[in-house]
Amino acid sequence: MSKFLSDKFSSLSPYVPGEQPKDMQYIKLNTNESPFPPSQAVLSAAAQEAGKLQLYSDPDLTELLKTLAEVYGVETKNVIATNGSDEVLNFAFMAYTDKSHPAVFPNITYGFYSVFAKLHGSPYIEIPLKEDFSIDFKDYLNLNKTIFIANPNAPTGLTLSLDEIREILKSNPDNIVVIDEAYVDFGAESAVPLIKEFDNLLVTGTFSKSRSLAGARLGFGFASEKIIEDLNTIRFSTNPYNVNRMTLSAGVASLKDDGYNKKNAEKIINTRERVKAELEALGFYCLDSKANFIFAKKEGVSGKELYLGLKEKGVLVRHFDKEIIGDFLRITIGTDEQMDIFLSKLKELL
Ligand code: PMP
Repeated sequence: MSKFLSDKFSSLSPYVPGEQPKDMQYIKLNTNESPFPPSQAVLSAAAQEAGKLQLYSDPDLTELLKTLAEVYGVETKNVIATNGSDEVLNFAFMAYTDKSHPAVFPNITYGFYSVFAKLHGSPYIEIPLKEDFSIDFKDYLNLNKTIFIANPNAPTGLTLSLDEIREILKSNPDNIVVIDEAYVDFGAESAVPLIKEFDNLLVTGTFSKSRSLAGARLGFGFASEKIIEDLNTIRFSTNPYNVNRMTLSAGVASLKDDGYNKKNAEKIINTRERVKAELEALGFYCLDSKANFIFAKKEGVSGKELYLGLKEKGVLVRHFDKEIIGDFLRITIGTDEQMDIFLSKLKELL
């Protein structure tokens, strides 16, 4: 740390992303990317736009917002697009959390929430999951604080129902409730239709998982017109060209070719269920994930040792050095071939 850093950032411990190693070719099952490349239409759209990179991108995100609104059945005024969904989440923490609006989220969830809260000087409260690792929606009723819930939750993959989300929204009418749907396309129910009913709801989503565009960095949010206005105030005060030309164009092409993405999501769901059954046959306890990963542990086997052993054999999974979940592995679902290699290396280790 230099002597110049502002006091407000001196105790910040940044988010640590999953490894992106360069030392060797791993089977990468550690950062919940899609194992499938973007469709040909998306590649062509991005390549065509590359020839115009001397020009700034559209700060109004016109074509992308129009297409997102069409695909999700909302109006353009109810949509924002961002540089990954991390950016819309960052904007939400910036806009809606502070000392008088502390953030609330589960104690086991996406690690970036606590980092964003600290970044913006907001206190935060972590609500413990139930013993079975699920979220008890009743813990989030009448809180009078800004609520962040990933649905499906990460890294558990467990979901809340729309009825439960509705109860949370109803009982916190004076506070924003953010539902982070990064993994929704792998089997959960989307809360996007609820933005018509509740003016305190922000639903965030990403092109990084089911739409194979993690490296393009594209996220979005759906909410009432007023909330979108707030988020745009922050966007235009931060970086009006937050989504680059190639990504804007890739995003539109991806939405127009969404059948390709849906088929890939189905493949991932099928592979997830097969791998889950195989892990259970090996004695693993697996949570009922509705995401593109499985969260699993085996009694009497150290999660950390398993992670290190798999890494040595060329398979990367994610391990969290956190009490309660220290014995679990989070295994991203890859192609069937990748998962077969993972299973055979795992059997060797066991
Ligand atoms: N929310 C959750 C729950 C996630 O796991 C992630 C991915 N790490 C994100 C949001 C952000 O993803 P991205 O910025 O790639 O859209």
